[in-house]
Amino acid sequence: MSGDGEAAVAAVERIAERIEAERSHLTQLDSAIGDADHGGNMARGWAKAADAARELDAPDPEAVAQTVGKTLMSEVGGASGPLFGGSLVFAGAELADGVTAETAVAFAETYLEKVQDRGDAQLGDGTMVDALTPAVHTFKKSIETDERPPVESLARAVDAAERGVAFTVPLRARKGRASYLGWRSVGHQDPGATSTLFILEELLQTAAHHRDEPIPEVAATSPTIPDADADESDDSKGESDSEGAA
Ligand code: ADP
Ligand code: MG
Repeated sequence: MSGDGEAAVAAVERIAERIEAERSHLTQLDSAIGDADHGGNMARGWAKAADAARELDAPDPEAVAQTVGKTLMSEVGGASGPLFGGSLVFAGAELADGVTAETAVAFAETYLEKVQDRGDAQLGDGTMVDALTPAVHTFKKSIETDERPPVESLARAVDAAERGVAFTVPLRARKGRASYLGWRSVGHQDPGATSTLFILEELLQTAAHHRDEPIPEVAATSPTIPDADADESDDSKGESDSEGAA
């Protein structure tokens, strides 16, 4: 399990480097439909998170996830800090017995559930949920139903997230700052969905490296998304979809 803890620290370091490399790209996306702070917020938060993870004495995956989550909550700020960080604190508890295909699915599901609890965004609202939802559902189906190996399942999840990010472009944003623009948000890629994809790509790289396995080519397949009826019952709690809600 200590190997998994070290891999978790390595994952955080990799993510921090990638986010730093994408800082201006993320800021550029956020300047089109937000306030141009997503790159800076995330780069600062992940750099501090990597420091905090490195400082852990005997890192295990749960401690790493929770330390990173707390650091992101306090350092990233904006709408996205509590979403990335708070969800990671909760999801980290799923890794108490280490990282297996089964606990990884539970981690992913809890993470998505907490993002949606906090942010109240549904699939199609033009947020990070549009990258996460297909990724998490594709990962779960690949592991549980198709019984594919973990690295391949994660590769499929990354592929699904990539298409989820592309899917945010034609959407009208209905949550977060971008929703203030109404129809003018159409035609822009969501910054939080994009940073979520980068994080998943680095998790895949770390997992493949840690397990000493190649990353398989995954043929573009339809991402798995939740049942539309199940989604509607979730929606029916009187949540308003109104455009100007601040
Ligand atoms: P802020 O909007 O406060 O400046 P950031 O720029 O760091 O925060 O993050 C913006 C990203 O946060 C958006 O691109 C979107 O993906 C995500 N986001 C904002 N509000 C929500 C929400 N309610 N649910 C899910 N994601 C959200
Ligand atoms: Mg912003």
